[in-house]
Amino acid sequence: MGLTVVIGAGPAGLSAAYELNRKGWPVTVLEADPAQVGGLSRTAVYQGYRFDIGGHRFFSKSPEIEALWTEILGAEMQVCQRLSRILYQGVFFDYPIRPFDVFAKLGPIFTTLCLLSYLKARLFPRPKLVSFEDWVIDQFGERLYRTFFKTYTEKVWGIPCSQISADWAAQRIKGLSMASLIRKTLFPKGEGVIKTLIDRFRYPRLGPGQMWERIQTLLAEAGQPVQLDRKVIQIHWDKGGIHRVQARSQQGERFGVMGQHFISTMPLRSLVRSLVPAAPDPVREAAEQLRYRDFLTVVLVVDEPNLFPDNWIYIHDPSVRVGRIQNFKNWSRDMVPNPEVTCLGLEYFCSVADPFWQLSQAELLTLAETELRQLGLLKKAHILDGTVIRAPKAYPVYDHGYQTHIQIIRAFLEEVLPNLQLAGRNGMHRYNNQDHAMMTGLLAARNILAGERRYDLWRVNQDAEYLEEGDPSAALAGGRAVPQVIGQSG
Ligand SMILES: Cc1cc2nc3c(=O)[nH]c(=O)nc-3n(C[C@H](O)[C@H](O)[C@H](O)COP(=O)(O)OP(=O)(O)OC[C@H]3O[C@@H](n4cnc5c(N)ncnc54)[C@H](O)[C@@H]3O)c2cc1C
Repeated sequence: MGLTVVIGAGPAGLSAAYELNRKGWPVTVLEADPAQVGGLSRTAVYQGYRFDIGGHRFFSKSPEIEALWTEILGAEMQVCQRLSRILYQGVFFDYPIRPFDVFAKLGPIFTTLCLLSYLKARLFPRPKLVSFEDWVIDQFGERLYRTFFKTYTEKVWGIPCSQISADWAAQRIKGLSMASLIRKTLFPKGEGVIKTLIDRFRYPRLGPGQMWERIQTLLAEAGQPVQLDRKVIQIHWDKGGIHRVQARSQQGERFGVMGQHFISTMPLRSLVRSLVPAAPDPVREAAEQLRYRDFLTVVLVVDEPNLFPDNWIYIHDPSVRVGRIQNFKNWSRDMVPNPEVTCLGLEYFCSVADPFWQLSQAELLTLAETELRQLGLLKKAHILDGTVIRAPKAYPVYDHGYQTHIQIIRAFLEEVLPNLQLAGRNGMHRYNNQDHAMMTGLLAARNILAGERRYDLWRVNQDAEYLEEGDPSAALAGGRAVPQVIGQSG
């Protein structure tokens, strides 16, 4: 029953620690953040206002994960009704889109143009559907593509739709076409559940961080508190595997931690950089090829109790840079301390290398207010306060060759570091949700409890289901679909 050292106190690391702790095993969690657990799923707090990094819906196809959420938070897990619409040229459209809603709001002229452009796409189909743009135009016609698909996709991924491979559209919006939308509108009960539609989800009363803070408390009560402000900077290994990690606090103090088993949820690229002695050149080169997309939220407190009823709004207007706007009070009333005001999160998808990321807090607050006014969402309300939350490495990028890079890194780690397991989103470089991160953490812990590698964590699919050996879908286990640039097979 040797000590397990877990790197990172996000959903994956805390789930691993929770499982080990409840079986009475010793565990130490090292977390880089000086104040908070939860990682990308934390709840940030500013002047009593609570908000997510993004908006974190809790839903899973895994009954075990759903049950675990209930076990940890009980009645604090609320059910939230989803309302999220698209804002385009000053008009709110239902999301998922419904043809009658679209046509009623766009008026007869635009409707006629949309139908003509749809007919054109049907009568003169593109010979080959190479890009995302080709695929959507083929299904919906050019007018609807420009209105509902192009701008938001380009804001999120930073890639023109004409350069995104069509496969992504086929996976991501599977089951959705003009014909299926019309069928669903006319015969709502006859249509199956379309992949993109989930109208209810669970959400902790105080935001997603409440889940992770509760596990932090349980670990502390069991005498195994999470060690905050301990960023792992070196991982020392030799013939037998890892024997010690070195962590550093923000003040520069150093702490050595010995262990028998190690679970890492830190970004895979950083893990390879931390190895002492260094990994062989091909492994380090593969790690350096891994890339991330970053994300920042501008939080604005507004002196108006009910600005709009949505949980979030997709901003398809190309004249503003904001991609999505969260209204945290509509996720849970208790996210704001004062019912007379509203707390919005304006989400900007970007890269730390962009000049945009370098803008000061004051510049970002001004930009966000200007864009809100331009969109007509503020009306006569005033901004009372605001802050900016930056989330680097929010999305692991699946670019050309990323799978090959991961294979090279995995092969090396599995051969020389048998007492290390990789878990979680950036830990495995997988663009997946909390439930997936949790399942990989739980299974990593169970491997340690069992004293053998009973579970291959790479067989957990995006729905947090474990695919047994022999299951043909195991070959596809892994990440949610993300856009691929044309000509790159990934
Ligand atoms: C905008 C956005 C919206 C999302 N929406 C949803 C949603 O609606 N539903 C959902 O289920 N999921 C959602 N997710 C995904 C969810 O946030 C992740 O799946 C989950 O947080 C991954 O957990 P993790 O533990 O693997 O990693 P993380 O949450 O990234 O946690 C890793 C932890 O490791 C720490 N760490 C990193 N390096 C070191 C180091 N060197 N030493 C020590 N500690 C270190 C970090 O500080 C962090 O606390 C969303 C994500 C984003 C970015």
